[in-house]
Amino acid sequence: MSQTQREAVDSRRTFAIISHPDAGKTTITEQLLLFGGAIRQAGTVKGKKTGNFAKSDWMEIEKQRGISVTSSVMQFDYDNKRVNILDTPGHEDFSEDTYRTLMAVDAAVMVVDSGKGIEAQTKKLFQVCRMRGIPIFTFMNKLDRDGREPLDLLAELEEVLEIESYPMNWPIGMGKGLEGLYDVYHQRVELHRPENYDGERFIPLVEGDIPADHRLHQDAVYNQALEDVELLVEAGNEFSEEKIAAGKLTPVFFGSALTNFGVQTFLETFLQFAPKPSSHVTKDEQEVSPYEEDFSGFVFKIQANMNPAHRDRIAFIRICSGTFERGMDVFLERTGKKFKLSNSTQFMADTRETVEEAVAGDIIGLYDTGNYQIGDTIYSGKLKVAYEELPQFTPELFMKVTAKNVMKQKSFHKGMAQLVQEGAIQLYKTIVTEDYIIGAVGQLQFEVFQHRMLNEYNTEVIMTPMGTKTARWIDPKDLDESMSSSRNILVKDRFDNPLFLFENQFAMRWFSDKYPDVELKALL
Ligand code: GDP
Repeated sequence: MSQTQREAVDSRRTFAIISHPDAGKTTITEQLLLFGGAIRQAGTVKGKKTGNFAKSDWMEIEKQRGISVTSSVMQFDYDNKRVNILDTPGHEDFSEDTYRTLMAVDAAVMVVDSGKGIEAQTKKLFQVCRMRGIPIFTFMNKLDRDGREPLDLLAELEEVLEIESYPMNWPIGMGKGLEGLYDVYHQRVELHRPENYDGERFIPLVEGDIPADHRLHQDAVYNQALEDVELLVEAGNEFSEEKIAAGKLTPVFFGSALTNFGVQTFLETFLQFAPKPSSHVTKDEQEVSPYEEDFSGFVFKIQANMNPAHRDRIAFIRICSGTFERGMDVFLERTGKKFKLSNSTQFMADTRETVEEAVAGDIIGLYDTGNYQIGDTIYSGKLKVAYEELPQFTPELFMKVTAKNVMKQKSFHKGMAQLVQEGAIQLYKTIVTEDYIIGAVGQLQFEVFQHRMLNEYNTEVIMTPMGTKTARWIDPKDLDESMSSSRNILVKDRFDNPLFLFENQFAMRWFSDKYPDVELKALL
């Protein structure tokens, strides 16, 4: 690989922002895009209903700037780095794709509402990042409001998420009394005062630059913050780049996305420590270097077009090595079939910019007419690799599903089989009657499923909600018919492995108490 291409790989920073709805993910993303020059005005991303970016707004932004801003991948340049932010939808748009997106990033930024602390969805997404061992950076948001004590928030990270933390900065007051941030890492103070705001950012004051007669020195809140910091630096965790890289220690930044306070320093420090693309491991445990000459990548998400006029889908590929060029020949590892990534190969949809060239760390969207499956590897040249399979995630929501029209059984089964194979939904059958039950991690998956069954397989499905269940797999040799009760349902997955759908955690614990020797297993 040429020096220029190597430098291009080294400049990539590919990450996702994980958070619970309303923590401020949209707001901070928008600030980052502003700094990156990808949008001009704050508040461009208003009017959203679900906590996701309103699509029309993004299209508008794209039109204005002619850049690749989409709700799925956002790209901008900053400090000689090419930043790729992958969206992880929450709320009712939460789905297995949200988890799978985390398989394609090199780092995660966890946005926490400092008034609320760690919330349910953050915890789930965090666990997937932890499993991958990627670096996790924490942004404690909404400092302009009275929130929880900073020390409390750090303690919660350690207790609830079991991750060490290192405060990169420390609040000087909060809410209406927010004076600023003590930047522990750079040893300077960023003051939250209008006279320090030059219209674009707060100008950081270096500690030594604060005049001796500055009122801050008499400020009890400031002195308290300094004391806290001193204590933390002495008694807290040590800053360790190795631990950050291994996902064992999270650097914590306090700030306020809404008032754009502390965000730029966060971005700059994050880009300094966030990893560049590294090697990816194949099924036979070979490591493929991002600098490898030949192109390779894997499909981590397939987005169906919900517009009935366009049945095509977009397969999202994370590039792991080589250089993607338009029109290049690639092999699909699963089938061995060779094809050309032709002119229709574009970044995202037709309104978006066409990618001519992309390297490891970048994400490309390929038009898909049904060729790809989640986890597929594509490669060029002699590379011949198969990347590790993507994990499956334990579904939490379940529906009974039948075809409305009994005459449509054939297309019903075909649609089910294909959508399950593609990874859109998980399928289970009851043991005796073989009733179909579908499982998902978010409501959206059911809606997409129903829509696609109708549009792509011409089958109207009837779905009967079963609510939330706790799914746990069991070794077939431990299975005994008498274990089935009114508080659980015994089903088998598509590989015929048995599992119980427990009514709730309580029912599961009751089961474990009754059968202490039986191991219950969850997927991720
Ligand atoms: P998302 O659901 O995580 O994308 O959250 P949003 O970015 O949409 O923010 C949720 C709400 O919190 C919105 O009303 C924001 O204006 C507000 N918000 C976001 N960041 C801050 C902040 O730093 N301070 C305050 N006070 N509100 C914020």
